[in-house]
Amino acid sequence: MVTSASRPLAIFGGTFDPVHLGHLRVAWEAAELLDAEVRLLPARMPPHRPPPRASAEARVALLRAALAGQDRLGLDLRELARPGPSYSVDTLAELRAEHGAQRPLILLLGQDAFAGLPTWERWTQLFDLAHIVVLTRPASLPPWPDSLQGQWRQRAVAAPAALHAAAAGAMFNLRVSALEISASQVRALLAAGREPRYLLPDALLADAALLAPYRMPPR
Ligand code: ATP
Repeated sequence: MVTSASRPLAIFGGTFDPVHLGHLRVAWEAAELLDAEVRLLPARMPPHRPPPRASAEARVALLRAALAGQDRLGLDLRELARPGPSYSVDTLAELRAEHGAQRPLILLLGQDAFAGLPTWERWTQLFDLAHIVVLTRPASLPPWPDSLQGQWRQRAVAAPAALHAAAAGAMFNLRVSALEISASQVRALLAAGREPRYLLPDALLADAALLAPYRMPPR
């Protein structure tokens, strides 16, 4: 592994359709517990799932409103600007070129996303570019594919300090708060004319225009 001393940059990707307190809380805990700069990275066209309900512009407006007033979590819009599917390996290669060989990069993944990692485009190259941190909730872990377990046996580290000591290549399991919130649930509530209060930051409910795309009939 390449040695490094600088503060890690961690990315947390998703469709954020819409962003909710489950996303924000785990991103916040990762920033604190890993002592990292964390950026939320909305995907334009996620390769592994149906297209988002709201436009990229609407999802970004929600993210900006959700992130206002704090400075630990940032927003990275590069995948929205890039044509074609949003492959994490391309995003991390861009970040590696921008930040140099020494800075630790971290790919933060929820448990569900992590379990599907071996289906991702050029997935084994991810380890050359970044560390992988899986955000686990105390509930039981889903079974991991054998290929992922093999990587885990080679690469797992016991403490976040190891993620500061190298630029890429380690895997770490970060225990985070379990907030049983999903964007699907929020979309369903809005489509049914209900208010998702306390599942989203208040700022998203304070401006009726922000959530309007989810109250309309599907595009
Ligand atoms: P959907 O319900 O539409 O599938 P989602 O709520 O899972 O959406 P995504 O944008 O798909 O949101 O998720 C982005 C990342 O956030 C994924 O890695 C996912 O595992 C993680 N995530 C989603 N909800 C939570 C939550 N409540 N707590 C922790 N992590 C979450």
